[in-house]
Amino acid sequence: MDDLQFGTRNKRGDWSPNAPAETAPLFVFPPRPLKLLRWLPHYFLPYNLLFFLSALAWWHWVIPPVEVMQTLAWGWVLRLLAVNALAVFLWYGLFELHLYVRRAQGNRFKYNGKFPAEQPSDVFWFRSQNIDNFLRGMLSGVPIWTGLQVLVLWAFANGHVPWVEWAAHPVYLALLCLVVPVIHEFHFFCIHRLIHTPFLYRWVHSVHHNSVNPSPWSSLSMHPVEHLLYFSTILYHLVIPSNPVVAIYQLHFAGFGAVPGHVGFDKVEIGENRAVDTHAYIHYLHHKYFEVNYGDGLIPLDRWFGTFHDGSSEAEARMNARYQAKKARANARAASGRSR
Ligand SMILES: [Zn+2]
Ligand SMILES: [Zn+2]
Repeated sequence: MDDLQFGTRNKRGDWSPNAPAETAPLFVFPPRPLKLLRWLPHYFLPYNLLFFLSALAWWHWVIPPVEVMQTLAWGWVLRLLAVNALAVFLWYGLFELHLYVRRAQGNRFKYNGKFPAEQPSDVFWFRSQNIDNFLRGMLSGVPIWTGLQVLVLWAFANGHVPWVEWAAHPVYLALLCLVVPVIHEFHFFCIHRLIHTPFLYRWVHSVHHNSVNPSPWSSLSMHPVEHLLYFSTILYHLVIPSNPVVAIYQLHFAGFGAVPGHVGFDKVEIGENRAVDTHAYIHYLHHKYFEVNYGDGLIPLDRWFGTFHDGSSEAEARMNARYQAKKARANARAASGRSR
């Protein structure tokens, strides 16, 4: 496909889309019903449906019977860890292999013209973004993901939290499934904003931001504290009356859903004339500019807090004005400190 029909490429080779990034027409006032209807299929396809089906698959084939989960034992916990690790390897690896190893579509639709493999850096383990990102995801990401999953399943199995049955409350649980992405967005925005405070940024979140040019393995390249905060979205299902399948869906939404935001390409080509939107631009701009787009745009929180960047030059000017004002405030504080 000719990506220059959809965007422009600068002299560094970085591609950016013509259309500015948009937040979902979900929490807007006045409501925009037509826009909402046009957007609605994207709410389900392809990712959310896929992650929900994966939760069902785990429930049927991976998660052991309730009696087994009542006791914490290495057998079922390690099996779950192994399946989660294998699934991450395959799902993340699929994008990595296609777009970054085989480079099947070259740099068409690629935001950053360079590939991480071409840019060794001392900030990464073994000077390699790929090895560093892969190891961090596997060594602490997947174990923490699994640990929280085990905790929640154990709590359900022992009756420590209410277990809402599908047969008794199908409508409630279906609605709860629809709200899963909204819970994720709210949680992610809050913890993400928190770890951008200076102390936590320096000690925790900077690990994730080492990947200025993210690739699929960057998705789970985090400090263990960030893994813990990120995957704790499953804990909402210990508070809200829920069902283990919905809780797993929430976890898979975080775990498998991190890839599309870090894929680094605006579209993944399928055949000659077709391509699937990744919706990665909002989070790519976060990796590029750091202090914009703390959320993914499902709830327009960044618009409400004035930190939204849609990729346009107007947004760039707004961001720079905000940085200048912040710098001026810091200088004023330093000056008043000196005069005291
Ligand atoms: Zn990221
Ligand atoms: Zn960040």
